[in-house]
Amino acid sequence: MIAVLVATVVTALTVKAAQAEDVEVTTQQLDKHIYVLFGRGGNIAAHVGADGTYIIDDQFAKLAPQIKAKLKELNPNAAEFVLNTHYHDDHTGGNEVFAQAGAHVIAHHNVHKRLEEKHGAGSEFLPRLSFGDDLTLHFNGEHARLVHYASAHTDGDAVVFFSDANIVHMGDIYFNTGGLPFVDVDGGGSIEGILAALQSVLAQIDDNTQVIPGHGPISDKAGLMRYQASVAKAKALMLKAMAKEQTLDAVIAADPFAELNLKYADWLPKERVITLFYRSLGGKEVQP
Ligand SMILES: [Zn+2]
Repeated sequence: MIAVLVATVVTALTVKAAQAEDVEVTTQQLDKHIYVLFGRGGNIAAHVGADGTYIIDDQFAKLAPQIKAKLKELNPNAAEFVLNTHYHDDHTGGNEVFAQAGAHVIAHHNVHKRLEEKHGAGSEFLPRLSFGDDLTLHFNGEHARLVHYASAHTDGDAVVFFSDANIVHMGDIYFNTGGLPFVDVDGGGSIEGILAALQSVLAQIDDNTQVIPGHGPISDKAGLMRYQASVAKAKALMLKAMAKEQTLDAVIAADPFAELNLKYADWLPKERVITLFYRSLGGKEVQP
């Protein structure tokens, strides 16, 4: 009996270890100071220079050793700051590990609030520094400006603009995965806020800007414009379906986004995307 139990536990641990090892963290250099690390979860940007290193988002705790090893290849010093674009696990899961290694986590006030609800007061997952409308980090001879976009993907989204590099980190306001954004309605997000944020960022970038999405490969202004058009079209299609159909189930059955030929992730199937658009645009899940 004990032998069987031990064997089961060992198998479970081996499977878990294999899953962690399955993910290979890769690096792409965008600029003399800025790299992107792709693993599992949100894209990480690393800013590396004479002062040291800081990163934007940190994926999951179990990937932290691999992420740290990659960062060490770029600069021997550990990350000094971690900027979070929003509160989701796949962007903040490494916060505790990096904080314990000496990094200071920075994020919007609402990220602090939501991580405190989840992890408790005093947890090292929480930002040490939180901000309102914006914050600028002066490091490595460059100024990185974090700008809050209210009620977009969540209620605590920050987009990061750099003073020298023509690069912007969008967090999950931009999913470059051939589908629609995850509108985290329960986390304070909205379609209107996502569209407003996209409009604002598009007005501040040019044809040479490298755009880091929260998920998917590096993109550019043209890619961001196509995405904006797709989100706007989806909003119009949803409003049309809501005017015609009486219930959420009827809207789902009508398949309002069919003509957009979208890709759907396993964790964000079509029904969920439709439901979140519906709720964000004022649809009630339960009819009176
Ligand atoms: Zn997210």
